[in-house]
Amino acid sequence: MKTKKIFDLDAYVTTLDTIVLDSHESDREEYKGCFEVITKESIFSPKGGGQNADKGTINGINVKDVLTIDGELIHFVEGEIKAGDKASLSIDFELRKRRMQVHNAEHLICGLFHKRFGFDNVGFHVSEEYDGDTLLRVEAVMDIDGIVNDDEIKKIEEDANRAIGENVQIYASLPTHEEAQSIDFRSKIDIEDNLRLVIIDGYDVCACCAPCLKSSGEIQVVKILDYFVHRGGMRLTLVAGMDAVKDYAFLHTQNKEFMRLLSSKREDCASSLESKLIHCNEEHEEINNLKKEITKIYLKDIFSNPEYENKKYIVCFAPSFDEVMARNLINETVAKKECALTVCFDNKNDSFRFVTGKSDALDISLKDLATKIRNDLSGRGGGSDKMIQGSIPADEENIIKFFANLETD
Ligand SMILES: [Zn+2]
Repeated sequence: MKTKKIFDLDAYVTTLDTIVLDSHESDREEYKGCFEVITKESIFSPKGGGQNADKGTINGINVKDVLTIDGELIHFVEGEIKAGDKASLSIDFELRKRRMQVHNAEHLICGLFHKRFGFDNVGFHVSEEYDGDTLLRVEAVMDIDGIVNDDEIKKIEEDANRAIGENVQIYASLPTHEEAQSIDFRSKIDIEDNLRLVIIDGYDVCACCAPCLKSSGEIQVVKILDYFVHRGGMRLTLVAGMDAVKDYAFLHTQNKEFMRLLSSKREDCASSLESKLIHCNEEHEEINNLKKEITKIYLKDIFSNPEYENKKYIVCFAPSFDEVMARNLINETVAKKECALTVCFDNKNDSFRFVTGKSDALDISLKDLATKIRNDLSGRGGGSDKMIQGSIPADEENIIKFFANLETD
């Protein structure tokens, strides 16, 4: 029954009138309600070789998927079409073109890696990003079985773009088994029958089943977005054509924003940001030192102020503190003084945040204290028997009174 695959040799046929050779309702779970349609000829490239099937319609009915099953090209059509019917095929060429651009760019880059380093392509996948029905972006991920440095990647990318500029011919050929013996081509698998080669004149010959462009110039531009060492080789992410142009425009807009934020020249953003970060770290360190100094002043007061002598409950108001400072002050105090220290800080809307800690020797329950704060002061919070924290919606005077009452209880 073998369908004639028009896209094998001509990827630019976007509509085709043919006839249906076979059709029946699918009994596959994922294609429930679809008809499995085989046509005499087809322009639909099936899923395989790292990319999904073409999108489109047959007789105006959506084609959900196209698969090769037991050597037959099967269209899964979301509606009934009968064997013997005329079939009017139409594909989404915008999607095909963008896939061909990034796919042929991948051939070019793999061909260059192969020529220069003898590396082989060991993985390839094209993906699309949509916003509803709008195709936003097409990108490819490719794996090679060797590792190169940043400069070599840059050079390969430049050479690929040079080859694009040379606008060399791209074409597919279907050599016989005998003819294939004398051709040197890249291949991921040992193909015996139905060998199809995609040739980028002067750059690459590769076994491939996907539709291809007519010339390298149609790729427009290729950009390697990212690369890293992966399974003993490297994984690269590519975009081509308008996807690469859009990516460049996006980066340019971002860079303009960086220039504005850093008051920097276009080429100096990174170094300018780096020196700002160094400055920030220095300031951060200074702030930490100041926090330690402030904590020391409070600590000195706790140990020298006669008011705190022989007190079980000490309460200290430190508006400039944060939680870390409060905990540090508590830890340093209770290590040397038998007491329960409450540090109130972050006074906002007549409410303090607080942390209370106690020395091990002091025989009181902080969990009970948390309950009392909740009951008597409408506070919130809790914790362990070593430290509690939360908030108290009361002013200094009432908080002092509360702890003074505890002292005499
Ligand atoms: Zn390919």
